[in-house]
Amino acid sequence: MIARILYYSSHPQELSYLFQMKKEFAQFKPSEERLTSIASNTSDHEFCYEALKKVSRSFAVVIQQLPKDLQDPVCLFYLILRGLDTVEDDMSIDQKEKEQMLISFADRMNKEAFIMENVGDTQDYRDLMLHFDKVIREYQNLAPGYQQVITDITNRMAMGMNKYAHLSVVSYEDWDDYCHYVAGLVGIGLSQLFLASSLEDSNNLKNETLSNEMGLFLQKTNIIRDYAEDLEQDRVFWPEEAWKSRVEKLEELQKNESKGIEVLNELIINALQHAPACMEYLESLKNTQVFRFCAIPQLMAIATLRELFNNENVLHKNVKIRKGKTAKYFMSITNFEQSKNEFVKILQELSKLDRTGKISAILSKMHTYENV
Ligand code: CA
Repeated sequence: MIARILYYSSHPQELSYLFQMKKEFAQFKPSEERLTSIASNTSDHEFCYEALKKVSRSFAVVIQQLPKDLQDPVCLFYLILRGLDTVEDDMSIDQKEKEQMLISFADRMNKEAFIMENVGDTQDYRDLMLHFDKVIREYQNLAPGYQQVITDITNRMAMGMNKYAHLSVVSYEDWDDYCHYVAGLVGIGLSQLFLASSLEDSNNLKNETLSNEMGLFLQKTNIIRDYAEDLEQDRVFWPEEAWKSRVEKLEELQKNESKGIEVLNELIINALQHAPACMEYLESLKNTQVFRFCAIPQLMAIATLRELFNNENVLHKNVKIRKGKTAKYFMSITNFEQSKNEFVKILQELSKLDRTGKISAILSKMHTYENV
């Protein structure tokens, strides 16, 4: 607490951003009312946004910052994938039955406004599924171009969920593949929605590799950060290839911190390999609102990796970046130059700490990618 007061007293700008952001977020406070009662007295459209606030307040805030034409498609894209994920995460459903539910999800959504009873492992998720007909009707009102994107990504993600129900992440290649299904596809889908809106038209958005890497960068950052939390819940997302040669079991890294740091830094360097692709993608965006929507999470990710590098606390708890830093990005990032400068600045700081020289190599790509 004292450290925080001292920090902000010497960084008044960040503190002011923090207040502005708090005000912005306050507008999207989820209703106290349960979704089931909200469902009975709201239109389908209102329900979708109320549901979004309940299941992801931060996403509800960022969606409002998108151009009007994209808000509904992106909101429904999110809610539908959330619905699919709710099925996947419900461990009370029989595995065979679940696979069928996932693989038929998109197809059903195009035929009928269905609901699912007693599916979901939290109250909000169960309520969402109980009124999923409202989400589907709104989806069916979208322009066909948007519907096609959402259907395609939902189908591809369902395939990935079924694939990883039987597989674990062993090699770095598996890690990329797993992250492709859970996050890369979201990046690919968002790019296609931007193109469908005609607000963006760059060939870089048609390039699935670049969009995929945008998602991979965010997902890998989360996976690296969440080590201790995932371990507590018996989940393993760090690829074996990174740690199996050093320890028998992933949790042993908590006791052997020097090995833990080696693995941690190796994973961070792997994630940072996506930075040049992220820059290439961001540079091609024309619409300022779309740009901010894409750039802010990337900046938060690289700032997080900066915080995690060489940091043994990651082995024991969830390390986060300062709220003031989030607020600064949130309130002040408007253009590509600013974002690239921030990326380069952080990579320079990291390259000084990195003894492998790999971060310097990434940094040199950051200066040259636009000429390739
Ligand atoms: Ca899941």
